[in-house]
Parts: sequence; structure tokens; C-alpha cells
Amino acid sequence: MALIRTVTGDIDARDLGICYAHEHLLITGGMFPRHDKDFLLDDSAHAVEDLHAFTALGGSSVADLMPCGLGRDPEGLRSISERAGVSIIAATGFHTERWYDTQHWLYHYSAGQIAGLFREEIEVGMDQWGYRGPLLNRTRVRAGVIKVATGYYTWSKNTEKWFEAAALAHLATGAPIASHTEDGVLGDRQADTLLKHGVSADSIIIGHIDKNADPYVHRDLAARGVFLEYDGPSRLKYGPDSDVVKLIAAATEHGYGDQILLGMDLARRSYYPSYGGGPGLGYLLGVFAPRLEAEGLGDMVQRIFVDNPARAFALAQTADPL
Ligand SMILES: [Zn+2]
Repeated sequence: MALIRTVTGDIDARDLGICYAHEHLLITGGMFPRHDKDFLLDDSAHAVEDLHAFTALGGSSVADLMPCGLGRDPEGLRSISERAGVSIIAATGFHTERWYDTQHWLYHYSAGQIAGLFREEIEVGMDQWGYRGPLLNRTRVRAGVIKVATGYYTWSKNTEKWFEAAALAHLATGAPIASHTEDGVLGDRQADTLLKHGVSADSIIIGHIDKNADPYVHRDLAARGVFLEYDGPSRLKYGPDSDVVKLIAAATEHGYGDQILLGMDLARRSYYPSYGGGPGLGYLLGVFAPRLEAEGLGDMVQRIFVDNPARAFALAQTADPL
């Protein structure tokens, strides 16, 4: 039986239900809101309220991809999960270098040491303080996915080390790895690096890749066996929804429809009705899924929202010691 690790415990992957693959329910502080206070998502009551638009349309689970040290709130996510009746997969791991001061431990610890920290968040519990130390407040809320990230065509020695750490943590725990690509670049290098370190392709999710809405690139990535995560629908400032419809049609045509995931990546107050913005979490299920049906891609709805995430977020049967 394949298992998925949520903030309230492990569940049978068949019980994941309709899943959004890349969300941000809470960002309670850290560098993102310091950069732009629109990133501050500090009210769990708002998250519960916004999730109603998702559950009302049959939504069941979300992956919250804020890694440690950037305003992630493990106990807050557990509370939201229980109050909203939504399974939440939380993340350990890292974001791009721009969000960490050069004094941060990510720069100074070895790949093995960093992997050990990620591993403990997956196996024991996440540090409520995101390893900002020196004291820990290790919760009993466990991470179920490892976040990795790269900047726009930037790949440093640190990137290389942090990806190795993520791979080591995966090999020890089986937790899947989900990436952030900046504007959809370097997805191929992310995938190849993780594969080189022994991560199986079906435990790799390449994120935001629809920001490079080029079906040739997606077909090339999909040939490696990895999952492709799209979150462009509703982001009209980046491109029309038709871009994503075309990418999904291409996936169907070229036989990698079982490797596509969808999320909304709503990481700003201005995206949430509870904070006075929009479109809110109802958009994918309420607007985009019916459009897929109307455009002859109805058979993709079940695959993208249910079948594919059940495989993508499952813990792999690997348990190599660090
Ligand atoms: Zn995100």
C-alpha cells in the first residue's frame, strides 16, 4: 500500500482524493513578507475560510510547499487541516539562494548534515522555528515532501550541494521531491541532477514549468519520467489559461498525461477572497476543470487531480541509511 505523509499522519494514497499540488496556506513571517508584505499569510482562520471554496467543489488535499525557515508554520498547518477537513502535505527543504542570508546554515553545513536535518523533519517532526536555532521546537507534525529550488539560470556550488542533500534525504526517507523553477527554466538540470544522485523519476516533481509554455520542452522533460506541475491557470498577468490547456492537450497527445499535476500557487494575500482578493482556491475546480471538459480534455480531470498526485506524493520504498 502506497502511503502519503500528511501533517496529521500517513494516509493511503488512494484516499488523497482531489489534490492541488502546489499551494501556500500560511507564510507567517521570514524573508518573503519582508520583501513584500503581500506575501504575509498569517491568519489560519482565513486559510480555513478560503479552503471552503475548494472543499465545496470536492477538493480534498493540498501540498503546502513552503520549506523550513521561510515563515512555514507546522502547527498552524496541522490546525488548518483539522478545521478545514483537508489533508495537507507539508514541506522540508529549501527555496532559492536569494531568500537566505549568507550566514544561513544551508551555506555552511555539508550535504550530509543538511540531509540529516531534512530527514528528521520527515521522520520525526518539523521544527516549528524552521531550524533558525539555536534551540529547536520539534513538533510531531511531519513533512511529506522535500522542496528544492533554483533561480533564473543560476546554478552555483551551493545549488549543487543543496540538491545532493535533498537527494540523500529522499533516499533515506522515500519522500518525493518537488521543485521551484524560476520562470520555468532549468527544469532539465534539476531533473538530471536528482536522477544522477539516484532519485527515481517518479519521485520528482518539476514545478511552475508551465511558465515556459513550450510543449517541446515539456515532452523532453516528461521523457525522463518526472512529473510536471502547472499552476498558471488564473494568472492572467503571466499568460492566458489557454496556454495550460494547450500543454495538457499536448501531454495527452504525446502520452505523458499521467505525469501532469495542477496547483494554484496562491502565495499572496491579494489572491485570496478572505483577505479581499481573488481568484481564490475555487478557480481550478470551478472554472478550469469545466473548461478542460468543454475543450475535449475531460478525461484528464480525474488523472490530473486524483490519480497523478496519488503517485507523485507517495513515499517511495527506499530506506538507504545516510
Ligand atoms: Zn510556490
